[in-house]
Amino acid sequence: MTEQPRDPPTDEEPKLPGLEAELDPKPEWQPRFAGSDRLRDKVAVVTGGDSGIGRAVAVLFAREGASVAIAYLNEDEDAERTKTEVEKEGGSAMLFRGDLGSAEQCKDLIDKTNERFGRIDILVNNAGEQHPDDDLDDITETQLRRTFQTNVFSMFFLTQAALAHLSRGAAIINTTSVTMYKGSAGLLDYSATKGAITAFTRSLSQNLADRGIRVNAVAPGPIWTPLNPCGGKPADEIPDFGKSTPMGRPGQPNEVAPCFLFLASDDSSYMSGQVLHPNGGVIVAS
Ligand code: NAD
Ligand code: MG
Repeated sequence: MTEQPRDPPTDEEPKLPGLEAELDPKPEWQPRFAGSDRLRDKVAVVTGGDSGIGRAVAVLFAREGASVAIAYLNEDEDAERTKTEVEKEGGSAMLFRGDLGSAEQCKDLIDKTNERFGRIDILVNNAGEQHPDDDLDDITETQLRRTFQTNVFSMFFLTQAALAHLSRGAAIINTTSVTMYKGSAGLLDYSATKGAITAFTRSLSQNLADRGIRVNAVAPGPIWTPLNPCGGKPADEIPDFGKSTPMGRPGQPNEVAPCFLFLASDDSSYMSGQVLHPNGGVIVAS
């Protein structure tokens, strides 16, 4: 099969993906409670695991006994830090740098994870990109294709590659967004990818039910990670980030990661096709 060319990065938000190492104040990703072996001997792939929500998930999974493959685009410093923190929890960590908008890279990530750890139990599809545009005409074809490739195509490619390794009891968790439920006037393409992710989650859960593989999603509200302050939102909106939620503040990654842990572990053994909403109290349809 010939590899389709990957669209180049959009030059509108040159600081994306942002570096957590340079973010001030720093996001809170540290697990808040002692582990209880919920993921003992499991192997998880966490895309976008270098920073933000993905870092909090990788470290929490390690605290619960998992080994973690941390996939990221190009933020080496953040990824190394996450690896160190996973290892401090007693977990094994593997780094994978690559553009997951490409089917080849996705297959390579899954192959390398399996080579290193010998199994895969949990796939967290969390990598994403976001470009603000108030005017529909400002969404270039390059940006549109790229946002869908990163946010949606990667989930198909990774799931296709991972399925051969997943057995009964495995879990897939996808990151969608509150923007999918509420709409977002300035994030037309991004929120549309998140709609696709929720629909994919529901359909895949039905498709894989008889194989004993559960598929769920998490729809965060405004969370303090590099994504928004580094270009995912206009700079003048950052001081008020999260203030319009009922709780009146942004969430921290360690307030979101426990949703992923719940969906990854047997605590949620009777749940599939569902979405959890760590979003500061915004009521959404489902
Ligand atoms: P983040 O910038 O820390 O994480 C996103 C990660 O995606 C980056 O670390 C980057 O390495 C990775 N990535 C981007 N493009 C990639 C590509 N082409 N190939 C491989 N990796 C790529 O920000 P975050 O907020 O933690 O984002 C994680 C997920 O949460 C995203 O899917 C995002 O859409 C979603 N989300 C975030 C918020 C929020 O307010 N922060 C709200 C709702 C949903
Ligand atoms: Mg990052």
